[in-house]
Amino acid sequence: MAHPEEASATIGVLALQGGVEEHLRILEGLGADTRRVRVPRDLEGLDGLVIPGGESSVIDKLARTFGVAGPLREAVNHGLPVLATCAGLIYCARDLDNPSPGQQTLGLLDITVRRNAFGNQRFSAERTLPVLVGEETLPIEASFIRAPLVTRVGEGVEVIATVPHDGAEEAVVGVRHGAVTALSFHPEENDEARVHAAWLDSIR
Ligand code: GLN
Repeated sequence: MAHPEEASATIGVLALQGGVEEHLRILEGLGADTRRVRVPRDLEGLDGLVIPGGESSVIDKLARTFGVAGPLREAVNHGLPVLATCAGLIYCARDLDNPSPGQQTLGLLDITVRRNAFGNQRFSAERTLPVLVGEETLPIEASFIRAPLVTRVGEGVEVIATVPHDGAEEAVVGVRHGAVTALSFHPEENDEARVHAAWLDSIR
């Protein structure tokens, strides 16, 4: 929630490709100042960064072309909080089961991710699932669009959302570690603002 007496946070959205506008709309609705991040200087003075969905191999390629991948990794390693959705989760992973040829990731989270794990179609277009948001578990409206699955969770990485999938009761679709929260799905597609709100609260 916006606290009028506090200076509002400045939140960047990595704006190389993908669903940038939906995140900007939600963040602005929550009272944050926003900035599109494309080049290294756009990272200066940010209080947090959102990495949107889209196509992770394209985001990777463009981030390296614009020279922002290295500075971004460094900023997060120095504590810049991140909220990542879908392709953003893929981009944060240490390892991918099925990378595109030459695809690189930021390695911010010790997880392994399988891209397009639910098939190429929209999987149950929208569904409500319990997600650990801040300290509470809330029913979150989520869209799964060519969504990835977390197939390995490293030590210290907390699971915040699961769905039954492919015989597994609890396939992992949301994780957090330190200041990095990453989801396989898109709350922003449904104007679901509570994940963003809790993340903002945690960094203010
Ligand atoms: N399948 C996409 C990828 O590999 C992610 C899809 C999404 O972000 N909605 O990047």
